[in-house]
Amino acid sequence: MAKDKKLMQSDICNGCGICVSVCPTNIKLGKADDFDINTAKLAISVTNGAAIINPDACIACGICTRNCPVTSLTIVTA
Ligand code: SF4
Ligand code: SF4
Repeated sequence: MAKDKKLMQSDICNGCGICVSVCPTNIKLGKADDFDINTAKLAISVTNGAAIINPDACIACGICTRNCPVTSLTIVTA
């Protein structure tokens, strides 16, 4: 993750999952031959109807923030 930036989530997420599918970290993981959705360290995933950020995997690229339909995600200075 970029040291000076981090991804933040608000409570307006509707759980649509678009962020999960556009995330380049997730896409890269998904291409692995041994990819397992249940064990992969996704940068962002949807659990119980809301997006959950994994700060250890998220590189704060901001792509998800530009694709979220309700602008629930933002990149902030860490
Ligand atoms: S900021 Fe980039 S790496 Fe982090 S969850 Fe969003 S799309 Fe994925
Ligand atoms: S953060 Fe945005 S794109 Fe991701 S699941 Fe929530 S509403 Fe959808």
